[in-house]
Amino acid sequence: MKSALVLGAGGFIGSHLVKHLKQDGFTVRAADLKKPEFSPSPADEFLIGDLTDPQICARVLDKPFDHVYQLAADMGGAGYIFSGEHDADLLHNSALINLNISRLCVIHKVGKVFYSSSACVYPVHNQTDPGNPNCSEASAYPADPDSEYGWEKLFSERLYLSYARNYGLKVRIARFHNIFGPESPWQGGREKAPAALCRKVLEVKDGGAIEVWGNGQQTRSFLYIDDCLEGISRLMESDFEGPVNIGSEEMISINDFARMVFRIAGKKPLIKNIPGPTGVNGRNSDNRLIQEKLGWAPSFPLEKGMELTYKWIEGQEKIGLKAIK
Ligand code: NAD
Repeated sequence: MKSALVLGAGGFIGSHLVKHLKQDGFTVRAADLKKPEFSPSPADEFLIGDLTDPQICARVLDKPFDHVYQLAADMGGAGYIFSGEHDADLLHNSALINLNISRLCVIHKVGKVFYSSSACVYPVHNQTDPGNPNCSEASAYPADPDSEYGWEKLFSERLYLSYARNYGLKVRIARFHNIFGPESPWQGGREKAPAALCRKVLEVKDGGAIEVWGNGQQTRSFLYIDDCLEGISRLMESDFEGPVNIGSEEMISINDFARMVFRIAGKKPLIKNIPGPTGVNGRNSDNRLIQEKLGWAPSFPLEKGMELTYKWIEGQEKIGLKAIK
């Protein structure tokens, strides 16, 4: 039986990944500051600890796992990453986690390590036109990410690739583009656009407007969690190191995205655009490399994924209301 260590297993993608690995027959050790919020983890062991602490890391990564999945990061949605208020913490915390883990992977001769990078590594100057962003993998350099979060991801990509070059560590690096789905934060400040829009549309009275940050013309693409997990599996099974985009090419403006959620909810769309942290004007995954190397393409249309996500958040709201009553 193959063994896996999942770091960040209490978070959105990590908690889904643990379930996926268990279904694939892995023995899984999970670690995070916290357990998953929305459903129990099927991990064989779940260690709670702060991975910025080298001693905790040494206890968590103490043997030659076949696979290590490094997803732990100090992160959140645009309100967290782009406000500027968390820059020092997120650079410090995420870099420390990666410095600790990359070295331990070499010391314990792990089979392969997966590192979750981000579309936030791409330079601002290629993402000024909302209709035509360039996010091909090679365009990451010369580097100019729009957030410290993006700079840390770029640094850590280079860190893992350096260990690959100098110590023979087998690394696989994916740049995720806006992963969404059920069991992701949907309130409290770290939620991302898909879940935040579902919550706003759910809570607004029919005929009322929801607030959307920016002028609403900024574009993005969003990938459903099941497709993301399939992309990770394919990358881990392959000989291709990356970095490679794991995202969707179904680009949409944020106002059109909000209208889609109104349609799912069966409510009349009314949007009030207000100033707020928005990030770059346009961003879309470029899937030519992943298609060529792994033959992978997303299978969930955005609207289908959003229907499932909306339904899940609706269920969460009902549970919350019951608890208050
Ligand atoms: P998440 O915030 O839900 O999960 C990250 C987890 O890391 C959290 O559970 C958190 O508690 C844990 N963590 C943070 N600091 C820690 C510490 N010091 N010690 C132990 N655990 C710690 O985020 P996610 O959406 O599941 O993202 C997973 C990874 O994918 C992250 O590295 C993120 O940067 C990357 N990523 C995600 C997206 C996306 O759209 N969700 C996009 C690009 C990249």
